[in-house]
Amino acid sequence: MFDGKTLVYGIIGNPVAHSFSPAMHNSAMRELGINGVYVPFCPPPERLGEAVAGIRALGIAGVNVTVPYKEAVIPYLDELTGEAKMYGAVNTISNRRGVLTGHNTDGPGLIRALREDYRFDPAGGPAVIFGAGGAARAVAVALARAGCPELALVNRSYDKAVKLAETVAAATGVPVRPFPWDAGDRQLGELARRSALLVNCTPVGMSGGAAGEFPLPGDLPGRGQLAYDTVYNPPRTPFMTRGARNGAVTGNGLSMLLYQGVLALEEWTGLPAPVEVMRRALYDRAGIAGVK
Ligand code: NAP
Repeated sequence: MFDGKTLVYGIIGNPVAHSFSPAMHNSAMRELGINGVYVPFCPPPERLGEAVAGIRALGIAGVNVTVPYKEAVIPYLDELTGEAKMYGAVNTISNRRGVLTGHNTDGPGLIRALREDYRFDPAGGPAVIFGAGGAARAVAVALARAGCPELALVNRSYDKAVKLAETVAAATGVPVRPFPWDAGDRQLGELARRSALLVNCTPVGMSGGAAGEFPLPGDLPGRGQLAYDTVYNPPRTPFMTRGARNGAVTGNGLSMLLYQGVLALEEWTGLPAPVEVMRRALYDRAGIAGVK
C-alpha cells in the first residue's frame, strides 16, 4: 500500500521500458519493509535537465541512470563521488535534502559479482577487455582499482582503445595496453594466455545485435580462466560458449547488473540489500532462472 509517506525511486533512460531494475528494486523494498516504489522514467534528451531538476523538486529519493544518459546527466548534478569522477559516468543518483550526488556502481558491481559469485580475485592476474566504450571503461577502472596488475584493451576502433588505455593508466597507475581487433596479434595472444580474466564489453553476441569472432587463439578463453560477458541476453552468449568449450569458467552480465543494483540500494537506504531476493527477481524478469 502506498500512502503519503511513500518514497519514490526510479530509473532514467531512453528507452527504459525493457529495464529489469524495477522488478529487482521493488522486490528488495518489499523484503526490507521499506515504504517505497521504484518506477521507470523516460525523458527525451532535450528535457534531461528538467527531469533531473524534477528529482529535486519532487523529492524523489534516488534514481538509477542508464543508456544514453550516464555521462549527459553529470552537468545537472550538485556533486560527484571520487569514484564517479574516475569512471566519467553516473549510474546512480542519491538525493539528500535536495543535494543530488552522482555515484557509479557499475564497475564496483562487477567486482562484487566476481568476488561473491565466482570467488575470483581481480588481483590474481592480468585481464583482457574487449571494447572501449562505457562498459569497458567501467570494467577497466574497476579491475585496476581492485588490484589487477595489467590490462589489455582490444577494440575495433584502435584509436579509442589507445585513448581509453591512456586515461585508465593515468587514473589508476596500472599498465594498460591497447590492441586492435586483430586475431593475428601475437602479443595479444601471449597476454591473453597468461590472463586470469577475459571480459566482453561489446555487443558482439547480443541477441539481435552484432555477430563476430573474438580476436583470440582458438583455445582461449580456456582452462583456469574466467570468461565473463557483460552481455546477458542470450544468457549463454557465444563468448561464454567458446570459453566453456575450452574449459573456462563462464559468467554473463546479469551478476554485474544485480550487484550494481545492490550497491545503489545500499547507498540509498543504508541497509544491507537482500541480494538473493533481488537475484531471484532479476532472473525471473529475465526469464532465465538458474543460468549464471
Ligand atoms: P558503447 O559505449 O556503445 O561501446 C560499444 C563498444 O563495442 C565499442 O568499443 C565498440 O567498438 C564495440 N563494438 C560495437 N559493435 C562491435 C562489433 N560488431 N565488433 C566489435 N566491436 C564492436 O556501449 P557500452 O555501454 O560500453 O555497452 C557495451 C555492452 O556492454 C552492451 O552490449 C551491454 O549489453 C553491455 N553492458 C552490460 C552491463 C551490465 O550491467 N551487465 C552494463 C553496461 C553495458 P567501436 O569503438 O569500434 O565502435
